[in-house]
Amino acid sequence: MTLNSTLEQAYDGSDTDFAFAQETPAAREPKLVPSRLKAVALPGDGIGPEIMEATQRILVAGGARIDWTTCEAGASANAKGAASGLPGETLDEIAKAGFVLKGPLETGIGAGGKSANVTLRKHFELYANVRPARRLPGVITPYMDRDIDLVVVRENVEDLYAGIEHMQTPNVAQCLKLITRAGSTKIAEAAFALAKAEGRKRVTVASKANIMKLSEGLFKQACEDVAAKHPTLQSDHMIIDNLAHRLVMSPEDFDVICTTNMNGDIISDLTAGLVGGLGLAPSANLGAWMSMFEAVHGSAPDIAGKGLANPTALLLAAIMMLRQGGKLAAAERIEQALYVTLEDGKDLTADMAGPRNVKAGSTVAFADRVISNLGRRSQNCPPAPKASLTMPKGKPQTTAVSAPTKRTDAGMDIFVEYGGSPTELAACLKAASADLPFTLAMISNRGLKVYPGTVPMADFADHWRCRFASRAPQDDLPEQQMAELMARISKFARWCHVERLQMIDGTPGFSVAQGQ
Ligand code: NAD
Repeated sequence: MTLNSTLEQAYDGSDTDFAFAQETPAAREPKLVPSRLKAVALPGDGIGPEIMEATQRILVAGGARIDWTTCEAGASANAKGAASGLPGETLDEIAKAGFVLKGPLETGIGAGGKSANVTLRKHFELYANVRPARRLPGVITPYMDRDIDLVVVRENVEDLYAGIEHMQTPNVAQCLKLITRAGSTKIAEAAFALAKAEGRKRVTVASKANIMKLSEGLFKQACEDVAAKHPTLQSDHMIIDNLAHRLVMSPEDFDVICTTNMNGDIISDLTAGLVGGLGLAPSANLGAWMSMFEAVHGSAPDIAGKGLANPTALLLAAIMMLRQGGKLAAAERIEQALYVTLEDGKDLTADMAGPRNVKAGSTVAFADRVISNLGRRSQNCPPAPKASLTMPKGKPQTTAVSAPTKRTDAGMDIFVEYGGSPTELAACLKAASADLPFTLAMISNRGLKVYPGTVPMADFADHWRCRFASRAPQDDLPEQQMAELMARISKFARWCHVERLQMIDGTPGFSVAQGQ
């Protein structure tokens, strides 16, 4: 469906015709892309259709030349039987279009618990979640006099959000935190590319590598390797909890923050809070082949259909989409009209009007007000950085098994469910392995060493890591004897999973226990 209207027809000119583009100094003249953007609109659930309609009207009036295809996603698609709320036709249209503007999607009951939002990110390998936090004019926050202009670049598809979970025992749940070198390198490259494209100066890598030395450590190392290729940009590393603290104390000190999926999820909500909250926060999900733009907030079922919804976050997301698509002049024109509207304070939706103690307008009235302000410029808020981000292209990759110079097997960790004491368990394990090529090296419970040595004054779960060292390091674990050991263990404890202990280039590829 093509969105067309008298407003679009009234605007007669290309993206280059706007005064703002002409006012831009030649040296900073953005690269202009004259063609129309092809985009899929996913209005989504709850307030989604209302804010999508308002946003599309503003885009049309602002001269953004977009050919829209509107597709179904979310609860309604789920009710029609599309598991995860994404019909095949929707995925096909997205693949063809390259740009998506997405309203909030509910995770439907009966969808097997899979979120349509997460599925979209993974299906299209949208690995970079870009969430700017910029002070907005007229928005009342405790930080309104602070010069906040930062971007969180969050890895979007790996980490704990890979969603690989197992109940180890009826009482112990496990979630696998998967961090890859390729994924970490890609997101670091995106963060540095964004810093360059937007004329920013510094990239702060944030991790929890002090505790998760292998997983978060791999991320940190990959980012540092990428940083070394960008000597013109400053870069530093912060432990994620310190970053949270520093963001609250002095947010104006930050420029680009690059971090892992869960850290970034939390930190970017914090940064959204600094500049007015989730209701005003846009986000881009970028990949090599397509990009998806959305408001950070949800479907707000409590106000759906009442004309109360604030379309600002979705409009800011659409402005990001215009910039990513090279529609810089239209982006700036619409953004400035939004800023002027926020400054003037007329027809603000209830969530913004309340704190300012001014009369509230409806979603429709707010959109009309932004449209009426097109052509005006904000006195206080200069345009956001202009450049679009070119994501590295390439075929979807199956990473070849890397070939480190030397790998040997040092042993294995067998995780078991057991209801007795650590000393009883140790005695059973030693007896079971006595004539096999493994030595019981250590038992830990919730990561804390409980054998050998004195038993700590800690609570124990019914889930034990039993570390067996190979009597002699070898190229491959002897699988028959491993199977024999597990069969013997099964007589007194139930094993849940097994991990191979690899030495990679002489370095242990496994963590030690606390107290080991
Ligand atoms: P929510 O963001 O929908 O609502 C939280 C509060 O903020 C509500 O009081 C709501 O009225 C208000 N609010 C949110 N957006 C607003 C707007 N644009 N204008 C005015 N007020 C606004 O969070 P929730 O209630 O936890 O989630 C509701 C549904 O949205 C859930 O099904 C959840 O799964 C889904 N959700 C989707 C996304 C997404 O699609 N990216 C994100 C978060 C939640």
